[in-house]
Amino acid sequence: MEPAAYVSDTLLAGSCDKTSLLQYLVQLQTTYRHIPSEAISALSRSLDLPENEIRGVIEFYSFLHLAPRGKYDILFSDSITDQMLGNRLLIKSISERLKVAVGQTTRNKHVSLDTTSCTGICDQGPALLVNGIAIGKLDETRMTLIGDLIESNTPLDNWPDELFIIEDNIQREDILLSSLNAAEDYRQRLGQLISSPPEDILGILQSSGLRGRGGAGYPTAMKWRYCHEAGGEHRYVICNADEGEPGTFKDRVLLHHYAHQLIEGMTLCAHTINAARGYIYLRGEYLYLRPQLQAVIDERRKQGLLGEDINDHQGFSFDIEIHLGAGAYICGEESALIDSLEGKRGIPRKRPPFPVTHGYLNQPTVVNNVETFIAASEIMLNGADWFTSAGTKQSSGTKLLSISGDCEWPGIYEYPFGTSVQEILQDCGAENTQAVQIAGAAGETIGPDQFDRTIAFEDIGTGGSFIVFNQQRDLLDMVSNFAHFFVHESCGFCTPCRVGGALLRDLVNKVYAGHGSCYDLDEMRRLAGIMKETSFCGLGTTAPNHVLNTLDRFPHVYERKLSHLDFQPAFDLDAALDEARQFAGRSSHPGQCK
Ligand code: SF4
Repeated sequence: MEPAAYVSDTLLAGSCDKTSLLQYLVQLQTTYRHIPSEAISALSRSLDLPENEIRGVIEFYSFLHLAPRGKYDILFSDSITDQMLGNRLLIKSISERLKVAVGQTTRNKHVSLDTTSCTGICDQGPALLVNGIAIGKLDETRMTLIGDLIESNTPLDNWPDELFIIEDNIQREDILLSSLNAAEDYRQRLGQLISSPPEDILGILQSSGLRGRGGAGYPTAMKWRYCHEAGGEHRYVICNADEGEPGTFKDRVLLHHYAHQLIEGMTLCAHTINAARGYIYLRGEYLYLRPQLQAVIDERRKQGLLGEDINDHQGFSFDIEIHLGAGAYICGEESALIDSLEGKRGIPRKRPPFPVTHGYLNQPTVVNNVETFIAASEIMLNGADWFTSAGTKQSSGTKLLSISGDCEWPGIYEYPFGTSVQEILQDCGAENTQAVQIAGAAGETIGPDQFDRTIAFEDIGTGGSFIVFNQQRDLLDMVSNFAHFFVHESCGFCTPCRVGGALLRDLVNKVYAGHGSCYDLDEMRRLAGIMKETSFCGLGTTAPNHVLNTLDRFPHVYERKLSHLDFQPAFDLDAALDEARQFAGRSSHPGQCK
């Protein structure tokens, strides 16, 4: 079908408004492997949006393209854990076999090859996405099979199912997962959840001490109460399922295995704040989870657990739509996520006002992550005391951790808050551990002298990422990976993050390449300080954490790379001229090249 006709059909089938722009673009990308210019013109006319604005949205999201991608669009996950598991060798060999360089598409548009940030499969890496669908546990055998399938032009639907299996990999359960596993009668559960008036629900949540599980730890009862009490015509419930922090993959498992309980939590929130509409913002890397998630939504609609007069509660109507992200880490930030949900580029908003009063479409909105909604509904079903029986006074309940890196048993672990890093390392089979990166690239790097610290909001807060590095690892590999990651993921809105991040990465590169000096380390600290103090949003203020932590706690990893104690230029002029001197038949002695 012609792109313009396709757009008309798609718009007719949907709500035909600007907020769905990103969803239309995702559909176009899937159908045509790029966004054709005729489609942009058709969207511009239909949605009354300037073409330039639509192009700006396309260019913002790394999974959308103006130029056609290959029939097989391969994106290797390139997080530090993938690198530790040897992804670079696999990329090199498939690149040579399929005769396509990284970042390129073959002339016949058969294959595109590129890398992307963490795909949420760090426990089963190295991993890749092919046409958006995840494949993990890559090794030479699986890569040979993938190469064969691509060369033989086998449609993706005919690839062996076994290739696409991603295990849940739950290694340790505590009170939350045990309770979720016992869930049976969803009608009865929902009836119980929405039988209490909002004031009682807020009281129980407050007694439970539940705090947001995304990392910031904002009290959930307070967030819901502010929204409940805000004015405005409509209220919205948004589930942030955009876990993009490198090393985090627990929501993958919750979305896959406990989707009913997530929707229960969102429905509970809607009942409490009086919302009729909810959205699950699903990260583009979790495209493969969408069909099953949609099936659960459809089933609940059929059973009257979503839609009009839910579960025979007259007047309570609530429904949920899934919106897909398209490869932008910044959209995990709640105000950027809201902009993205409105169909725009995901740029963080100035706050205040906060989303609880001015969120989606400027209306009061609750944004919580997957784990928080699930915990809220389990608290209502089991009681606040059940929840406070685990954890500490300031951090009640448990936390799901995504553990990866140098350990015997990577996977999902549920621990009561207050558990020490040392205990977690023992459980996951980590030995000779040099460092742990907690809370992802934006988190904290700690060494053995701090392994008695605990996972808790009052000590080491975390959204759930826990990456282990043993003594054989060069921590500068991690620093370099994260420095590149933040440059790639900066939304570009403010100078300290956009420019500071690039300068910091260049200095990291310089030290990494063995050209650094003490001056460069001081400069890294200075730049990191500026970024922390002056960046507009949390991405920029936390982006230098790994650099500062490693400079403070692991100075030797830098010092052994330093070539000089004084300033050294990043560009080695003499080395660069050496080749030219040889061509010219002149002496390579620098003293003679004047
Ligand atoms: Fe964008 Fe970075 Fe500035 Fe945040 S800090 S607004 S991500 S440029």
